[in-house]
Amino acid sequence: MFASVKQFMRYWSFLAAKLLAAGAIVSGLLWSVNRFWTPRTPLFHINNYQFGYDLPYTALAGLIFLLGIGLVYLCILDQRYRCRVCLRRLRMPILTGSWSKMLQFGRPKTEYICVYGHGKLNISELHISGIENPEWTEHADYWAELCGTGKNGRDFPD
Ligand SMILES: [Zn+2]
Repeated sequence: MFASVKQFMRYWSFLAAKLLAAGAIVSGLLWSVNRFWTPRTPLFHINNYQFGYDLPYTALAGLIFLLGIGLVYLCILDQRYRCRVCLRRLRMPILTGSWSKMLQFGRPKTEYICVYGHGKLNISELHISGIENPEWTEHADYWAELCGTGKNGRDFPD
């Protein structure tokens, strides 16, 4: 899947950075709620821990928790559609295969490419035995093959 350890580390450290940013957002929100939340009865309020005792505070903490789960989901979803080499978003989705003529044209898949020619990602639309991992195929530079700039460096081959 990855050509080198450097690509592997770069890809997963980008995900870790996004998760750290999401954690910083959620913990900052929770910190600000804890900092500025005043109890309803500040004079007779003995218990400092309001979670589970104060309904609006508990509901707000639950909403912040749901926001955190949503941010983690978005981080993982965004990482799935990134190029494994340059970390840019994959573009140009193309549907391949056919639902009605599966034996003739193959299983239905959605194919994304990196616009800089690093590779393509096949995501299967048909999941027979559970969720399948997307299939990343790395290319040297398929734009050079398509445009004809090969080994000789000219626009058209001899
Ligand atoms: Zn790329």
